[in-house]
Amino acid sequence: MSEHLETLAIHAGGGPDPATGAVIAPIHLATTFERSADGSYPHGYVYTRSGNPNREALERTLAAVEGGAAAVTFASGSAAASVALRALLKPGDRLLVPDDMYHGIRKLLLQHLSPWGIQPVQVDMTSLAAVEAALAEGAGAVWIETPSNPMLKITDVEAVSGLAHAAGAKVVCDSTWMPARSLRAFELGADLLLLATTKYIAGHSDVLGGALVLREPGEELDAIRSLQQSEGAVPSPFDCWLTLRGMKTLPYRLRGHEQNAGAVAAFLAEHERVTRVHYPGLPGHPGYETARRQMRGSGAMLSFQVEGGEEVAMAVAASVRLITRATSLGGVESLIEHRASVEGPESRTPRDLLRLSVGLEHPEDIVADLRAALAAA
Ligand code: PLP
Repeated sequence: MSEHLETLAIHAGGGPDPATGAVIAPIHLATTFERSADGSYPHGYVYTRSGNPNREALERTLAAVEGGAAAVTFASGSAAASVALRALLKPGDRLLVPDDMYHGIRKLLLQHLSPWGIQPVQVDMTSLAAVEAALAEGAGAVWIETPSNPMLKITDVEAVSGLAHAAGAKVVCDSTWMPARSLRAFELGADLLLLATTKYIAGHSDVLGGALVLREPGEELDAIRSLQQSEGAVPSPFDCWLTLRGMKTLPYRLRGHEQNAGAVAAFLAEHERVTRVHYPGLPGHPGYETARRQMRGSGAMLSFQVEGGEEVAMAVAASVRLITRATSLGGVESLIEHRASVEGPESRTPRDLLRLSVGLEHPEDIVADLRAALAAA
């Protein structure tokens, strides 16, 4: 098929339904599939936990759009992360993780996987010396998240992957914020991508999902497939259908999100009540050069800090009219959140910080809403 992401996103899942000619595939709700008199399964499906036409179409499309050998999907990004870690690591293994990362996966590691012997080691991955020092003590895998959540720190994927591979560690990259090769993670050395398809991939804030995309087939893929089928944290056929529906416009949506984010970041960077804007598309960002090398564009997530601390940050969030106060990201509507209070008492996120998922409304309207909220707070 084509090399173009726009075409792959629409066609890689398959064409019209052969049974009816329906242009869009039907949702196959059956949990089980008929076996022939000779005991075979003529259509290749046995039971929906182990395989379903809607899930296969989604997995084919994800693998094509991300440029991987295969994709394996789950009921959420968190379920996918849990499977990835258990497929790649064994009890006693150290796992290097960024010191700034999605708090849900940090919690999964600290509360639920540590007791089973996986040892998370938090590292400032913007420092290659820190990564090298941590690898010298051994690691089964390195977990990259770039830009990181919520401080938008940039990890040099190529350099960290090189160090990790030299130390015999696998590299997993959480590309939830940068899907469809907007971070060139496979080209730069990542072995495995985690995607919370809940976010940009499905894109409409109406379906949870997760995927693991592997650069190459092999024993990791077999282990991940086996866990998918044995544990059964699979997406429903309707979830897969909705996610694939959203995915068809992904390349276009990403461009719109990013264009809007650039306008919002430029506005915030000039605002007198904003003390810092964390967005890798701004030339003053410490990861600007690395981001330009390894990303197509700068993404559409940003965070900013305001003069006056938590009280003012909460007042800004309370004053928006168009932007919605809610957690999550990657939907068509802009969302704002006070990240520290969402993350809970152990959060290290600055209390004066707000995170924005820039949506697809007209950028002038998003900027006008923020201007008014900053004036009112
Ligand atoms: N990774 C990142 C970067 C996220 O932001 C999230 C959710 O916010 C996840 C993973 C987990 O995805 P899910 O909520 O689908 O479990």
